[in-house]
Amino acid sequence: MKFIGAHVSAAGGVDQAVLRAHELDATAFALFTKNQRQWKAADLSDEDIDKFRSTCEQYHFSPNQILPHDSYLINLGHPVAEALEKSRLAFIDELARCQQLGLTLLNFHPGSHLKQIDEDQCLATIAESINIALEKTAGVTAVIENTAGQGSNMGFRFEHLATIINGVEDKTRVGVCIDTCHAFAAGYDLRTEEACEHTFTQFDDIVGFTYLRGMHLNDAKSEFNSRVDRHHSLGEGNIGQTAFAWIMADKRFDNIPLILETVEPEIWPQEIAWLKSLEKN
Ligand SMILES: [Zn+2]
Ligand SMILES: [Zn+2]
Repeated sequence: MKFIGAHVSAAGGVDQAVLRAHELDATAFALFTKNQRQWKAADLSDEDIDKFRSTCEQYHFSPNQILPHDSYLINLGHPVAEALEKSRLAFIDELARCQQLGLTLLNFHPGSHLKQIDEDQCLATIAESINIALEKTAGVTAVIENTAGQGSNMGFRFEHLATIINGVEDKTRVGVCIDTCHAFAAGYDLRTEEACEHTFTQFDDIVGFTYLRGMHLNDAKSEFNSRVDRHHSLGEGNIGQTAFAWIMADKRFDNIPLILETVEPEIWPQEIAWLKSLEKN
């Protein structure tokens, strides 16, 4: 079946995110386990952990329905040694927090070369960062998100994702999350059923559906192939409704979190209800 939800706020504690997801009638959700714009956060207390776990149980969210996202500050492909080290330590901490919460996935943006190293070097650095972090943690899969390719962000080509996976030693703990807005902005068309077929055939050939651990369902304010990352509500942007209907009818997107990061949280209940109505059993 399809697990559908949104990236909800964890203000007031990580357990509050679970309640917010439940209120949306969601069957999946994403959250930050710490403030996404700060390097440091207080460790999760035993009480935080217990409350999160019991609330998930109460509202029937299992780890494969939850897609935590790491801090925006982390750059696992950083060209400068000291900054790279800071990012790696923060990433290990993010994985450890997920592990404590009983979560099995951590979604992150691969990294940026900042125009100081070439793309291949950056991708190799990212893979090395993942290897180091997986070595120091257990049970959590590193889920690489495709990007729009804004600035010097890597991960906008499916080949980038494949190259990173190729460099990761433990293939059982690496996966990908495809963001529809990012893919479209990076030049993967999704405007018709034929375009969706073509894009996801490419995805399957280059990366493989076996690595797909989640999706971000966003329409795009950005133009096709613009390399600009601007999300929109479903059906309101340049992608349009077809892609989302196509995804909901395709079994290859079953049993992974499908997460809205759309721009109007007020209409998330309607967007979730609409997506649910499109699922063919
Ligand atoms: Zn995303
Ligand atoms: Zn985005």
